Amino acid sequence: MKKILLGCIADDFTGATDLANNLVRSGMRVVQAMGVPTQPLNADADAVVVALKSRTVPKAEAIAQSLAALQWLQAQGARQIYFKYCSTFESTTQGNIGPVTEALMDALAGQPGADFSIATPAFPDNGRTVFKGHLFVGDVLLSESGMQNHPLTPMTDANLVRVLQSQCRGKVGLIDYKVVAQGESAMRARMAELRAQGVRIAVLDAVSNDDLYRMGPALKDLALVTAGSGVAIGLPANFGMAPSNTASALPAPTGFQAVVSGSCSLATNRQVQAFIAAGYPALAIDPLMLTGDGTQAVEDALKWALPLLGKHPVLIYSSASPEAVKAVQAQLGVQAAGDLVERTLAAIARGLVERGVRQLVVAGGETSGACVQALGITQMKIGPQIDPGVPWCHAQSAAAPQAGLHLTLKSGNFGTDDFFVKAFGCLK
Ligand code: ADP
Repeated sequence: MKKILLGCIADDFTGATDLANNLVRSGMRVVQAMGVPTQPLNADADAVVVALKSRTVPKAEAIAQSLAALQWLQAQGARQIYFKYCSTFESTTQGNIGPVTEALMDALAGQPGADFSIATPAFPDNGRTVFKGHLFVGDVLLSESGMQNHPLTPMTDANLVRVLQSQCRGKVGLIDYKVVAQGESAMRARMAELRAQGVRIAVLDAVSNDDLYRMGPALKDLALVTAGSGVAIGLPANFGMAPSNTASALPAPTGFQAVVSGSCSLATNRQVQAFIAAGYPALAIDPLMLTGDGTQAVEDALKWALPLLGKHPVLIYSSASPEAVKAVQAQLGVQAAGDLVERTLAAIARGLVERGVRQLVVAGGETSGACVQALGITQMKIGPQIDPGVPWCHAQSAAAPQAGLHLTLKSGNFGTDDFFVKAFGCLK
């Protein structure tokens, strides 16, 4: 077995892909695993991202999942661990960023560089900057960005030192933008100073992507790095890796092309309209017309798609306007409507792959989770980027025997309006 260099633990599914995408762009060959694998890695990779669903689960569960991921990554030879969370530092009142970080540090204790770690969700090119420990989303503080009203993880304080301290037993400090701007040796000196003051975790400022590149070498000796996906752009160089096309190489594309969309975000609705306007065939699924478990709608959709496959990419979508979604939810209930649509679209995705689709675009975070599950996909090799945060991937699936399939999982607001049209062009 070849050993991996970097072992990553992501607290949600689409965030894992975002991180993997950044590592690939910086020269690493990356595999994303759905949950903690039960077998040793069976692929050549420089980094593995284990995608968990630990962002909003109870603290003890998040810790248990993360420690299981750590153990597996260590068994694959990981030399450094990267705990990835959201670029808006999404936390519940219990954590989970602080408790998971400290649990990982405790588990790594005794290894060189395990006594200290850093935290920063900064990704300036994507509008996430940290200044004097305060997180800005675009031009406004996190606490004024709309995130203060998030249903599960309201973020009412933009001061990350304070937020993280409230979640941690150990002391939290700050390495500010002035130190970061001076580069590696200044950051290392500041880390030594903080260590001497008994600080265990430092929030790191970053006001430009150059700051992220400057950080890379200063983080080389830490056993654990915790961050959004941004810090990842500066780490592969520590392992002697540089951007190259080979890192994102996937097998040659084969088979038919299809899009399955269950996202109702503004961006996805525009992408659906652009696909239709470009003259491609599209079939809308109306949740109120689904009877029983949706089996009839699955059969009808596959019957519709079959004669079109091979001629054009096809789109099957439940994406709808906020008003239409509200009407459906009022009638079926929010959870029940979501589950029914996810099950139906996942069965359609599987049916399409069984009928020869080998290039599949899925829109929607939850929808992607359901489709990946229905296809029995446990890991994906990360390929070239289509749009920021959204790469093509390649995976094995029982529904696509032997050669597997190419798929891309696009969460709600990602991608340009022509995403569904241009995605297939990016694979050639
Ligand atoms: P996003 O990434 O945009 O949040 P998700 O797939 O995560 O997309 O979430 C969309 C949710 O909305 C899913 O649970 C999906 O099943 C549900 N859904 C999709 N279409 C409709 C619809 N027309 N009416 C009600 N719910 C829908």
